[in-house]
Amino acid sequence: MVYKRGLRLLIKQLDVLIMPYISFVLLFYPTAYQPGEACAAVAKEGGTSSAAILLCRACGHELAVGADIHFVPSRLALSSRNDTFIGGRTVNIQLFENPHGNQFEVITFRKAEVTQHWPADKHFTWFPGFSWTVATCPRCKTHLGWAFQPTDWPDTVTKTIFEESEHTFLALITHRLLREDFASSLLMTPKSFTS
Ligand SMILES: [Zn+2]
Repeated sequence: MVYKRGLRLLIKQLDVLIMPYISFVLLFYPTAYQPGEACAAVAKEGGTSSAAILLCRACGHELAVGADIHFVPSRLALSSRNDTFIGGRTVNIQLFENPHGNQFEVITFRKAEVTQHWPADKHFTWFPGFSWTVATCPRCKTHLGWAFQPTDWPDTVTKTIFEESEHTFLALITHRLLREDFASSLLMTPKSFTS
């Protein structure tokens, strides 16, 4: 009984001591409680901001930033999953299969710095209503994925028309991309030192 009473007294004292403190903090430090800002700060620290740069895994060419990622769902995807590809940010990854039975996991982007190879093809498209062109790395020519444009467009358009349209997008193969901050965290020894 003595202990219980003591405990209750302690809790009361804490109440008296802490409550004014909390009010004080909220009144005078309005920035102390701003969950939105807190998240933004954490995101920045973790390098997970939408400014994260994505590179060609083969040559390091800059292809896109995190903010360019734009989910375009397709009913033809074999599966669709969320991943924390860009650090803490959730990115949707879809799995597709081509007529040769090759499967590709892709992330869709509003835009990316790639080379497109027109004319666009309407057949075997993974996104109904859109025809596709192959997209390669402008520097090392690695096949990075595909670019999609509305089927009713001419088969060949200019890069400017493609880039300025809101109806175009790209699907880039996940494992052919690399995050810049991950790349710079790797310790690499130039080949000239190892031979
Ligand atoms: Zn490349």
